[in-house]
Amino acid sequence: MTTSFLSEVKRQPESRTVKLVWSDGFTGECPYDTLRGYCPCAGCQGHWAQEIQYHAPAAAVEPLRIEPVGNYAISIHWSDGHATGIYRFDYLRDLCSRQEEVQ
Ligand SMILES: [Zn+2]
Repeated sequence: MTTSFLSEVKRQPESRTVKLVWSDGFTGECPYDTLRGYCPCAGCQGHWAQEIQYHAPAAAVEPLRIEPVGNYAISIHWSDGHATGIYRFDYLRDLCSRQEEVQ
């Protein structure tokens, strides 16, 4: 588990990605659809999910608002009305790292 925290979160509508910069310099760009599809809340993942799975959003979504949760996570208010996902910093970092492997 990483101890670094997010120092910058920036929406980039041109590329439909969110830029995430960590305190140790690690930088990632995560597509909106990826973030929404990997929403970690129980409503999206199910209460008994063993492993987080990707659920493709029904329609293109945008993050309307991104807010800090304590000093360990952010919450994202999506354009489809969904806002219960709490994205922990280490979870986001994991998502960003996976994203780079795919490219
Ligand atoms: Zn969710």
